[in-house]
Amino acid sequence: MRRRSLLALPALLLPGLAPAHARAQTQAAPSVVASFSILGDMVTQIAGDRVRLRTLAGPNADAHSFSPRPSDAQALRGAALVVRNGLGFDGWMDRMIRAAGYTGPVATATQGITPRQMDAHAHGHDHGGAGRRHNHSVAPRQVPDPHAWQDLRFGIAYARTIAAALARAVPAEAAAIEANAAAYIARLEALDAWVRAEVAAVPEARRKVVTSHDAFGYFGAAYGVAFLAPQGISTEAEPSAADVARLIRQIRAEGITAVFLENMGNPATLERLAREAGVVVRGRLYADALSEPSGLAPTYEAMFRHNIGVLVPAMRGDAA
Ligand SMILES: [Zn+2]
Repeated sequence: MRRRSLLALPALLLPGLAPAHARAQTQAAPSVVASFSILGDMVTQIAGDRVRLRTLAGPNADAHSFSPRPSDAQALRGAALVVRNGLGFDGWMDRMIRAAGYTGPVATATQGITPRQMDAHAHGHDHGGAGRRHNHSVAPRQVPDPHAWQDLRFGIAYARTIAAALARAVPAEAAAIEANAAAYIARLEALDAWVRAEVAAVPEARRKVVTSHDAFGYFGAAYGVAFLAPQGISTEAEPSAADVARLIRQIRAEGITAVFLENMGNPATLERLAREAGVVVRGRLYADALSEPSGLAPTYEAMFRHNIGVLVPAMRGDAA
């Protein structure tokens, strides 16, 4: 803001120097490219305006099936750092990096995390294509579950990895970056404790949630919630009628009241499933993307506060 007001001064106050000075300042902020909105928010929390951030798969975007535009590859060419999730979530980023000839640093947020395994065909949107088989006579292929950010402990690991990469990429700002990262991690630790306490207040037998796709495996394991999604449900492939029928029977038999859509993808299948099971869809969970800045989950922290805020009363069975 100060920079902008300086530029707004009449040129005669900064004789001849203003444009060159402005260019130098703009160029001084190195550019960082993040593959999707949650990583973009972490870069913002840690580096603020010390970097120019470009987030490729933005608010409410389905990063699994994102298609980069030519201008995205262009942004990569001048970047000081690229931040991606890894574990097959944003494989299009790897192809882009190769295609753009980018040879700078790449921070992989899931680096060092031992991933959960999931059935390839159970995942909402299988990435490679090779695993998208619905042959139930064959044991499903296991693939790493990429949604590690849904466990705040892993989110903290993401923040540490991103902070270290930012400090290396922008050494002149390393001290400020490290201080911001420490404050951010302290907030995430407090948020993790709050999430645990909120979930613990719900009787264990009631901690069952139905969602569109299998994005909450890490959340479920970390906080003790069973997430159910119709196998094969996807923006790309319809679940089988038998899978949907099985889930409807389970919802009825176990009295599951927490049924949610996600903020990305197609709601049609889950809405139909809820209707047939006779339950009310309790709203949307933010799964693989944040909301617009003016929305309900514009940051990673706000995403957890929103999700817990709707999950807990729904699991308890409070009136919708
Ligand atoms: Zn996903």
